[in-house]
Amino acid sequence: MDRTKLLQARALLENLTPMYRDCGHICGALCCQPDEDGKGGVFLFPGEEDMVRGDWAEISPVEGGPGEGLMLTCAGQCQRDRRPLGCMIFPLTPEVDEEGHVSMRFDARARPLCPLLRNGLMGLRQDFRQAALEAMELIASDPEGLAFLREWEAIERQYDFKL
Ligand code: SF4
Ligand code: SF4
Repeated sequence: MDRTKLLQARALLENLTPMYRDCGHICGALCCQPDEDGKGGVFLFPGEEDMVRGDWAEISPVEGGPGEGLMLTCAGQCQRDRRPLGCMIFPLTPEVDEEGHVSMRFDARARPLCPLLRNGLMGLRQDFRQAALEAMELIASDPEGLAFLREWEAIERQYDFKL
């Protein structure tokens, strides 16, 4: 996808977090904790691999993943300015309607672990919600980005079904 749009989307969220204080202190950064196999994972947006690569992360293809199917795994710590866009928008996730209009809602994967859900969407920083929406709108304005978001949403809805 258009590299400039992806960089712009990342820049919108680079210095924003869901709360004014580090919400990782509330929960022990549960969304960054490794899985049973010792690693956590997040899918990369198309062309994002060069923007996130670092010695703290592994990037590998995953069958059935969205877009290029690349997943970044880490051990719960990262170089903050290189964290994936998927981490930047969490606990939100994009929804795209048939016309390509984007809205944001809580990610189903946040439900069992993220304490921020208790206060609803309005409990998150308004500028974070707005930047997350604008970032996903930028992605959706690119044809490859839009296709990626639709696949991302389909995968996320499978979690919705399971949880
Ligand atoms: S699980 Fe929720 S509260 Fe905890 S670090 Fe992640 S986004 Fe913040
Ligand atoms: S890349 Fe960073 S923000 Fe994303 S899961 Fe790993 S430690 Fe957390």
